[in-house]
Amino acid sequence: MCGIVGFTGKREAVPVLLNGLYKLEYRGYDSAGVALIQDGRIETVKTKGRIKELDEKLQSIGGFKSTCGIGHTRWATHGEPSDVNAHPHLSDNRTIALVHNGILENYLEIREMLKAEGFHIKSDTDSEVAAHLFQKYYKGDPIDTLLKLSHRLRGAYAFAIISADRPGEMFCTRRDNPLIIGIGEGENMIASDIPAILQMTRKFIVLNDGEAARVTPDGVTVYNDIGQVIEKEINTVTWDLSSAEKGGYEHFMIKEIMEEPKAVRDTVMPRIKDGLPALSECGLSDDLFRGIRGIHIVACGSALHAGLVGKVMIEKLSRIPVTATIASEFRYSDPIIGPDDLCIVISQSGETADTLAAMREAKKKGARTVGVVNVVASNAAREADGVLYTWAGPEIAVATTKAYASQLAALYLIAVKAGLASGHTTEEEAKKYCAEIARLPELIEEDLKLREQLQKLASLYYNRDHMFYIGRGVDCAAAQEASLKLKEISYIHSEAYAGGELKHGTISLIEKGTVVIALACDPALYEKTISNVKSVKARGADVILVTNGDFKPDGEVCDHVVKIPETSSFLSASLSIVPMQLFAYYVGVARGCDIDKPRNLAKSVTVE
Ligand code: GLU
Repeated sequence: MCGIVGFTGKREAVPVLLNGLYKLEYRGYDSAGVALIQDGRIETVKTKGRIKELDEKLQSIGGFKSTCGIGHTRWATHGEPSDVNAHPHLSDNRTIALVHNGILENYLEIREMLKAEGFHIKSDTDSEVAAHLFQKYYKGDPIDTLLKLSHRLRGAYAFAIISADRPGEMFCTRRDNPLIIGIGEGENMIASDIPAILQMTRKFIVLNDGEAARVTPDGVTVYNDIGQVIEKEINTVTWDLSSAEKGGYEHFMIKEIMEEPKAVRDTVMPRIKDGLPALSECGLSDDLFRGIRGIHIVACGSALHAGLVGKVMIEKLSRIPVTATIASEFRYSDPIIGPDDLCIVISQSGETADTLAAMREAKKKGARTVGVVNVVASNAAREADGVLYTWAGPEIAVATTKAYASQLAALYLIAVKAGLASGHTTEEEAKKYCAEIARLPELIEEDLKLREQLQKLASLYYNRDHMFYIGRGVDCAAAQEASLKLKEISYIHSEAYAGGELKHGTISLIEKGTVVIALACDPALYEKTISNVKSVKARGADVILVTNGDFKPDGEVCDHVVKIPETSSFLSASLSIVPMQLFAYYVGVARGCDIDKPRNLAKSVTVE
């Protein structure tokens, strides 16, 4: 959510900042801007809309020769998207420019105080007060000022700042929002995420909560929250820039769907040893599962949908009770969780604000925590007692596909491990499950061959206003994700229901031409789901049946059959979701939607 970038070096800053902002576009935004130090003054250029428009505005103004500046993509939380509300914000005396990611909870109170002191507030944002407050506190030492700012402000933030009296220098700090520092040669960068720095370097430092840094072309000095200089580990990005680029595909989303076999393979293979799950390094030892009272899976959006599949599987194999709860509900529900419980949090970015808060709540109550996280060294990864990384690589499209696929795979391994440790799954059964999990990448590859069929189905139904997804058991969990994918990228209203629940109300919405997509991938439940399908068909629905069974399209049951590869029913969500992602993708394309950057959505949701 939102992007921060800063550059200081010997070459012109604007092209580097723009390139960095383009690379952070995937995070979602509605306006953009830059601030530069030139001839001892600060210049800002900001615009509502896309970075391309900022780029054009900068070109029309003519070149900036500055070699130091900060840039921002804003995802509005306080105040509408507009040129004035776009960041960077200037201090009243125009000597400080600041970009902010996050939400300042006590900004109203500070705003009133600043107004009373004669400061002129120009925007509706919460962020602007930080620029004025910086000016108010500033006595020549920017780090000391940032630390004072941190004490005074409540909420979540990552800040980057330039000061007119410090050409060539940038300052930054953070709490609950990500910030990294890219280490180059004779040039350095600040950024919200790695893709922004890859144009310059693969080396980076992760700033922790409460830390602040001074960044110049020749060095980076990091301070702890009481202003002492500290040593930081330098990390190296192991993946390639090409994995964060489209590589010939029209959209990141389709590229990432096609990468699912690799994402699942990379997640699973290093964790199967001698045919059994090897998760001790992730903090998931046999001892942990023995005598455990319950497991609480906490997540948001698609990660929660992965959790719903995980819940079914873990309970089936281990008989340990599992809840899967929306993080924003969990955190405020005074959850019944304690030292005998395990809390599994799932987050692609590892920065999801609600998920982090829920994890902290679980920790406070004594539970052990494990993160299923994709971004290395993210907050969730560092704060959880154990972390099981999904090795999906960078995911750029806002609507998740390959990260979701690898979250499922990670949860399967946890389920088998829990089953073994609790004594409800034998070693022989566990080996059988692991062998099937290891085969998933191959089966997903086969699944991807359905691409053309789904494109055709999308062309038949893309102009409908409503679609319903139904299923039972694991199929019901997969239906939730299938429905969300369609909503996210095509803006078609869609809902997912447990097959058996339809008759308790929703069936009243089914009429001639309503599209119903039924997932039936568990032989034990085929007949039940088919009965549900018949009842919607009888009311005029157009039905697509997604199944691994041997069904033929039949006027009484369905109009189309999407046949997915066969696997054990408990892994079927991994195979039923692929055609559903493809369907959503092609429907979105047919409707001319902005596939990789759907309206109002952000990739890493770092606000509550
Ligand atoms: N809360 C700030 C605003 O609305 C920053 C939002 C962001 O993270 O982009 O301007």
